Amino acid sequence: MSIKVIIAGFKGKMGSEALKMVQNEMEFEPVALIDPFSELTEYQGIPVYNHKEELADIKADVWIDFTTPQVAFENTFFALEHHFAPVVGTTGFKESQIEELIVLSKEKQCGGLIAPNFAIGAILMMSFAKQAAKYFPDVEIIELHHDQKKDAPSGTALKTAEMISSVRGMKVQGAVDETENLKGARGAEYNGFRIHSVRLPGLVAHQEVIFGSKGEGLRIRHDSFDRTSFMTGVNHAVKEVVKQNQLVYGLENIL
Ligand code: NAP
Repeated sequence: MSIKVIIAGFKGKMGSEALKMVQNEMEFEPVALIDPFSELTEYQGIPVYNHKEELADIKADVWIDFTTPQVAFENTFFALEHHFAPVVGTTGFKESQIEELIVLSKEKQCGGLIAPNFAIGAILMMSFAKQAAKYFPDVEIIELHHDQKKDAPSGTALKTAEMISSVRGMKVQGAVDETENLKGARGAEYNGFRIHSVRLPGLVAHQEVIFGSKGEGLRIRHDSFDRTSFMTGVNHAVKEVVKQNQLVYGLENIL
């Protein structure tokens, strides 16, 4: 039996890649597409809906979401309530929202995944950064994305910062009497270290985690040159969430 999939944000850069992946996978069947502004009633033979409420009675197993930070929380909440296991790539969730969704998923006994990054290399980069932070507590993160990205810092940078913090503890870096002659010059602060966000046309999704110590440095870098880099992870997630009974945060939890 095929896994029936809904895709929210199917016209977007990531959503359109996800649609191609779903269409090319024998085990998946796309059953509905959502975009609030689309005038189409169907796209490549798949029904298109403007409002999630129209999907309440549809027969589906998984809800893929690549939309915007403003709507992704409500979408994921709706998906869990209707037992469509969410596979969410949209970034910009608050920690409290993720916690609320995990509680709801347990209540509903519904699997799901929120992953700020679906690229396997990015998962490794985050894991290596966490390992390194035990020995190199002085660190800065530089994330680089295309200039249409709506949230900053990226969900991947925040997740990396969270993983680093879990082993590093609290340490305020830099000179105590440091001043910014231009506001924002030192980037955003996260538990005493800095995150910098670069936005330029031509970029896709890239991140460097830079560690410094006495007389040595370490640089860990990941590049997504193309959005297909995320689709192996999305494909794997769709197959996994239907077997789970609660939502998790981070692709590494289902690998
Ligand atoms: P995008 O090209 O702007 O696509 C977003 C799409 O969502 C647009 O087509 C938009 O439609 C649609 N949309 C807006 N409101 C909606 C709603 N209520 N229901 C359904 N669709 C709605 O952005 P993108 O580059 O694909 O990125 C999408 C999200 O994925 C971002 O949060 C980004 O940070 C994240 N992302 C995640 C990963 C990962 O691996 N997890 C990788 C890359 C990007 P309109 O254009 O008509 O407004």
